[in-house]
Amino acid sequence: MSKRDYYEVLGVSKEADDDELKRAYRKLAMKFHPDRNPGDHLAEERFKEANEAYEVLADPQKREVYNRFGHEGLQRGGGAGGAGFGTGFADIFGDVFSDIFGGGGRGGPRRGADLRYTMELSLEQAVFGTSETIRIPTVEDCEPCHGQGTADGKPARECTTCRGAGQVRVQQGFFVLQQTCPACRGRGTAVTDPCKSCRGAGKVRSEKTLEVKIPGGVDTGDRIRLTGEGERGERNAPPGDLYVQVQVKPHELFERDGSDLYCTVPVSIVTAALGGELEVPTLSGKATLKISEATQSGKLFRLRGLGVKPVRGGATGDLLCNVVVETPVHLTKKQKELLRELGETLGEKKHSPQASSWLDKAKHFFDEHLKAP
Ligand SMILES: [Zn+2]
Ligand SMILES: [Zn+2]
Repeated sequence: MSKRDYYEVLGVSKEADDDELKRAYRKLAMKFHPDRNPGDHLAEERFKEANEAYEVLADPQKREVYNRFGHEGLQRGGGAGGAGFGTGFADIFGDVFSDIFGGGGRGGPRRGADLRYTMELSLEQAVFGTSETIRIPTVEDCEPCHGQGTADGKPARECTTCRGAGQVRVQQGFFVLQQTCPACRGRGTAVTDPCKSCRGAGKVRSEKTLEVKIPGGVDTGDRIRLTGEGERGERNAPPGDLYVQVQVKPHELFERDGSDLYCTVPVSIVTAALGGELEVPTLSGKATLKISEATQSGKLFRLRGLGVKPVRGGATGDLLCNVVVETPVHLTKKQKELLRELGETLGEKKHSPQASSWLDKAKHFFDEHLKAP
């Protein structure tokens, strides 16, 4: 199955900068969010596809690899050890791509892998910030064998295949490649009598609980880095980092665009025609919206400063209320009569600005195109 190009998935050019990427990703993430498209498999696929594309393109190292080697390059990097591409790339792959239990050793102690955690937040949590407790998988030294993997808990002996190096050299065509030792899987040691608890691995899966502080103003696509909270490094190597990736759920009232919020406000024809005041919801309570006389459907009213305070600083955005004039329903006989009476007085053009300009255009259209030759 062929994979779509990541730039195509996000609908951006190859030169797109971080901001463009983020904007494109947010739009797709909102549009195809599972909460908004329950049971729609195509939407779910699109959502996953956008997540994957963004994850790669938002990371400068992964993007570089993708630009040079495409999907293929990323896949190779994800595999255990891999042949590597020579200069530098093996390092990039090893650090960025190894999964928590995957990834191959490269001889000596390896820095722990980075972990990613997607955190779903409500719009309110994202706007005001929150503190969330998360549980993430981790690897710990096996207790009975003190991480040695041996039944007696003493250090294992040296691997005879690689003589403790963890790597072997393999001739492939013209090239000599360094590969992870297949006998010890890069560990450099061989366990002959393995510990029963961990079956010789020396490590056991576990979970750790972390308190993550989310600053107010974050949005879908933002990542919070928790240094050193990734996978443990081997032996004395440093641990990886944990990236908490924010995913904001769709809100039933508000739509967010950067620091601005949008909401749709239904207005009766009476208020729309005569003007008036309406109470509208904001993220932090209620506000009064003044509807001016002769308001048309689609008019945007701006409530300054009632949007979002951006996480990176800058001015707080606005709340934009999109007015939709509502046609009254379930009218009584009397009400219908009153409307008809009103209608008879509204014949003049000046009462219907949109209709009159529309009628002019329609007339022009008929005159131009529908005159029989
Ligand atoms: Zn070995
Ligand atoms: Zn053990």
